Amino acid sequence: MTPAERDARARQLAAENADRRQREGREEGVSESVVTPDGREYTASSSDTSYPVHEPGVKAVIDRADPRADWHGHCALPRAIEDGMVRDGLDLEDFRGASVGSSQIGPPGSRTHGRYVPPCDSCEPLFDELDLRRAM
Ligand SMILES: [Zn+2]
Repeated sequence: MTPAERDARARQLAAENADRRQREGREEGVSESVVTPDGREYTASSSDTSYPVHEPGVKAVIDRADPRADWHGHCALPRAIEDGMVRDGLDLEDFRGASVGSSQIGPPGSRTHGRYVPPCDSCEPLFDELDLRRAM
């Protein structure tokens, strides 16, 4: 897959997850998907868990954020990266250059549902550290 194809895949995965979460009753939050250069795919939604991201490598990067978002550690992107590291044993470096798609979750019929959401203050350090691609 080319980088542009990975961008498209990340957008698609994020949008599909946002639609699924909306059908499940969620009316707010953000769905994000990561597609690594070797084609691995991870998707999460913000506030999927009540506790913030805990994987030490991911946490160390987002904790550089200044200012930090009010929802620091609860975003979908660090959660998706953490999933790859904890479940599949990936290193943070395996995400270098990965594509990140995002899709807002809104109530049925809302015009904001499905919109691209740029990274928040807390997630910016992940983009800088890992040269992540904004799949807009
Ligand atoms: Zn964020």
